[in-house]
Amino acid sequence: MAVLLVTNDDGAHAAGLAALADALGDLGEVVVVAPDREQSAVGHALTLHRPLRAERLAERRFAVNGTPSDCVNLGVLGLLPEVPALVVSGINHGSNLGDDVTYSGTVSAAMEGTLLGVPSIAVSLERADAGFAEAGRIARLAAARVLVEGLPPRTLLNVNVPAAAPRGIRLTQLGHRVYKEKVVEQTDPRGRTFYWIGAGPPQWEESDQTDIAAIHDGYVSITPLHLDLTHFGALARMADWPRALTAQYRARSRARRR
Ligand code: MN
Repeated sequence: MAVLLVTNDDGAHAAGLAALADALGDLGEVVVVAPDREQSAVGHALTLHRPLRAERLAERRFAVNGTPSDCVNLGVLGLLPEVPALVVSGINHGSNLGDDVTYSGTVSAAMEGTLLGVPSIAVSLERADAGFAEAGRIARLAAARVLVEGLPPRTLLNVNVPAAAPRGIRLTQLGHRVYKEKVVEQTDPRGRTFYWIGAGPPQWEESDQTDIAAIHDGYVSITPLHLDLTHFGALARMADWPRALTAQYRARSRARRR
């Protein structure tokens, strides 16, 4: 039976994590390795400068004093009896859409699994109060499909489920944020300036193809994300940069020596 690693960023005691582990139970041997406390918006952080500990909460359930990426690392490279066939992260309490995926601990855990060569899926529910049953069923469907079909190299799936009963499933691309709001600048009681980022409601570019639009329209959104961030088109466009920059660099070095 395949081993499935389940993690999240809302912590080992989150309802969405339990729902996900339950939903995947008949696909393989589910092992939960999750942060011991909430780690939302920690991004892809790894803990390198203090010891990590894995507390065994129950059989095949561990809480780690680290980030979601730590949990995947520890699970894949140490804790699990074998390399898992799949990493599934979630079910996050709240959606992870568009440009915001780079901040997401939920999505970063799936990125970490992908970097370690394990097919990985991130699953998020628009609103936690919607109940996790439907999102669990969607997660199981996606996981079963990936177990059979696999994923392209360096590719993970970012799955978002709407709060209301889904009208269907869409393949989407990431939506892009429009940054209109400025940071809020205020003064604290001691007269020092402080700043508040992310204060206003986010605004998004309008496009029907995006994950944002799918959730807005009541559809499940599945976005394949690629982890090779190299822009191959830019490589071609910048082909003359090395020669030009090298020439400038040498000219400056000569000038300095004079
Ligand atoms: Mn979270």
